[in-house]
Amino acid sequence: MHKAEARWWSAAPAGDVLCGLCPRQCLVPDGGSGFCSARRNISGKLFSISYGRPVAIHVDPIEKKPLKKFLPGTSTFSIGCYGCNLSCLFCQNHHLSRGVYGDDETTEFVMPERMVEMALRQKCASVAFTYNEPTTWAEYMVDIAKIAKRSGLATVMVSNGYVSQTAAKDIFPSIDAANIDMKGFSEDFYSRLATASLQPVLDAMILYHSLGKHLEITNLVIPGENDSPEMIDGFLDWTAQNLSKKIPIHFTAYHPDYKFHSSPPTAPETLRKIKTIAEKRGFSNVFLGNVF
Ligand code: SF4
Repeated sequence: MHKAEARWWSAAPAGDVLCGLCPRQCLVPDGGSGFCSARRNISGKLFSISYGRPVAIHVDPIEKKPLKKFLPGTSTFSIGCYGCNLSCLFCQNHHLSRGVYGDDETTEFVMPERMVEMALRQKCASVAFTYNEPTTWAEYMVDIAKIAKRSGLATVMVSNGYVSQTAAKDIFPSIDAANIDMKGFSEDFYSRLATASLQPVLDAMILYHSLGKHLEITNLVIPGENDSPEMIDGFLDWTAQNLSKKIPIHFTAYHPDYKFHSSPPTAPETLRKIKTIAEKRGFSNVFLGNVF
């Protein structure tokens, strides 16, 4: 099985290892995997088993990430692997986020250099780490990003932002633009529907923005779950206070998927109302997604 020794971990008693990459801080027993399924303890060392094992490679318009204000009109060489450190019941991409690598060699090993060669050959302006949660394969992402930047390509990350501050400080400098998913502006929402917490996501956005990087935010709007005036206003208040009203925000439509079917698809009118509210409050880059 292809693998690379992980960063951001420490040894624990009895052969366990403590992963410090994300706020879960998984204690992984020998032979076991972390919550994300992308990091495995092999004989008392933590390995990234996603390293070099992309399961999705496509050339996409950068607007599809979505990034509206970064290199518009260009193509981005988009890479995804298996695994995620959240478990959103409404996941819109579960075939990758919940995918698990087997012990065989069914996925081709692709060195970082080769990824960048392919991106250049496809005349892309950037490389995007996307489709599943790229921080779970941050070692591979950072290695590709460093070579991409040396080769004149920009780097893009589409992330849930659920990453430890320690790891984020190592990862974020290699990434030129990010779209971070803010799934619902309450701890209750994150706890019930994503088995996670909101605060680390907010902290990641503040850190990324403080580095002077290009940040856009996506909020998937789920009727009856995260579209209350309190949650939308709370998110806008927080963004205005901690980031900027110029930050591009994408409010996108949900459709029932994976394990969550109790809300109807988001009505376009709901999204249009939220856009009007945000614009009246002075947000200058508000976009709607999945609205037809
Ligand atoms: S990155 Fe994966 S293994 Fe590490 S703490 Fe997060 S969920 Fe656990």
